[in-house]
Amino acid sequence: KERILEIKDLYFSFDTYAGEVQAVRGVSLYVNRGETLAIVGESGCGKSVTCQSVMKLIPTPPGRYKSGDIYYCGENITNYSEKQMQKLRGREMSMIFQDPMTSLNPTMRIGRQIEEGILKHEKISRTEAKQRAVQMLRKVGIPDPEKSCRRYPHEFSGGMRQRVMIAMALVCNPKILFADEPTTALDVTTQAQILELINGLKKELGTSVVIITHDLGVVARTAERIAVMYAGKVVETGFARDIFYNPMHPYTSGLLESMPSGNGNGKTLTSIPGSPPDLFAPPEGCAFAPRCRYCMKICTEMQPEITDLGNGRSVSCWLMHPKAPKYKLPGRKRK
Ligand code: SF4
Ligand code: MG
Repeated sequence: KERILEIKDLYFSFDTYAGEVQAVRGVSLYVNRGETLAIVGESGCGKSVTCQSVMKLIPTPPGRYKSGDIYYCGENITNYSEKQMQKLRGREMSMIFQDPMTSLNPTMRIGRQIEEGILKHEKISRTEAKQRAVQMLRKVGIPDPEKSCRRYPHEFSGGMRQRVMIAMALVCNPKILFADEPTTALDVTTQAQILELINGLKKELGTSVVIITHDLGVVARTAERIAVMYAGKVVETGFARDIFYNPMHPYTSGLLESMPSGNGNGKTLTSIPGSPPDLFAPPEGCAFAPRCRYCMKICTEMQPEITDLGNGRSVSCWLMHPKAPKYKLPGRKRK
């Protein structure tokens, strides 16, 4: 399988007046061609920062790449300049956000915006670009695309605006799409439609998708693989099926317990008591220890190492240690 993205042991911090915030602390993950990886976790766990640091969307300073490497299609892009990144953004990798207005220009007709996006990367005529914009708007389900091209973003509903943003993100056929909480602001029906649209386009265009979410319903509807993040680290990763039915990290298990056995619509990750640690001063041991009902003495003293269980599965928890007591952690019930 072709590896589109690989992140190796990435550390990314923010330097603030109050000190260093260690937002990403040794994240490793990969995305193969045409697959969807969901990065799951509570807000502040580093999932957005991880993806934004791949696309270099965070100004440095205050952001800082401390160590680790980012590979795009086998090429190390960690030290790419802004000029090099501009060639990748939009054409090779794109990002969509919860609020489409962060990427749409409110004062420009949407057809024009999409055209500009194409012309930035491709040497084609304005007329051709216009045609491509219309085609793309049709593809994402905007009614009457010729006419809609002349509309401004505010003339669309939230769901339609999200479709426009997806059209803009995918019009140059990037290899990877980062979708940061793309449906969080939408009602349940529109949410399902947008996820279906992303799934459909992914299949049609062969795009890899990284979907960032705190909503396990979204994961169940989209992802082949999952990376669960907690306090700036990936604590568990593997195929969605394996993780849903057989979670091995107590945090993952806690998340899943809060999810109904149906499609999990609308349920969010709020039911685990306690809150994540302060990333100004991350704890010496496991960051989840204060909230973990399986916590052992060693957990508060030493960081758990990453245990590779094969089949793309890895877990970072002391329960994986051969001498630890064995539990079957609760996950999603098989129907
Ligand atoms: Fe719980 Fe210990 Fe595993 Fe951390 S390492 S999740 S505290 S059992
Ligand atoms: Mg976020």
